Amino acid sequence: MKDEWLDITAPLQAELPHWPGDPKFALRQAASVKQGDEATVSVFTMGTHTGTHVDAPAHYYADAATVDRMPLDATIGPARVIAIRNPQAITAEELVAYDIQPGERLLFKTRNSAWAWTRAEFVQDYVFVAPGAAQLLAERKTRCVGVDYLSVGGFGPAGRETHETLLAAGVWIIEGLDLTAVVPGRYELICLPLRIADSDGAPARAILRPAIV
Ligand SMILES: [Zn+2]
Repeated sequence: MKDEWLDITAPLQAELPHWPGDPKFALRQAASVKQGDEATVSVFTMGTHTGTHVDAPAHYYADAATVDRMPLDATIGPARVIAIRNPQAITAEELVAYDIQPGERLLFKTRNSAWAWTRAEFVQDYVFVAPGAAQLLAERKTRCVGVDYLSVGGFGPAGRETHETLLAAGVWIIEGLDLTAVVPGRYELICLPLRIADSDGAPARAILRPAIV
């Protein structure tokens, strides 16, 4: 049977762009067959918001839910990939046309997808969810929102507002998706952040396959 799953996870590697000031991904071998050890064992270091990852409410709110407490259905189930035309931001004006229903999982494919994973250096003017759009998504009781660069919010003060609006409303956030090869439409999403106890976020593997209609 044909494998219809699309991997929308950014590979964890040293060249991955990372948020300014956040620890970058690094991998080294602690033991190596080549060096005469019995087995190869590697050590990796990274921030919890590196590459494809999930933000928990605890990312912005003290004593809020941590990533290990995420309901699994937040990021597993039917999902819609929406192509965003606006080259600056995902706005409420643009989203209104999509008749967003309560409980939807929405992944936004923006112009970021054309370059996001080909540049190791961080880019500040990526397309993000504008605070007004975050408000709309919160009001529509969106289950989860996924974006194709490192933050759901903009680079600057408005980024905080977007995060806070979504997380306070119980909208789970997936950041750092690689939607390069994904055609907008309806899919089945599986995204599982690592179950890191008491963490504000965690790296995730995310895959999509076309919805059966
Ligand atoms: Zn994050």
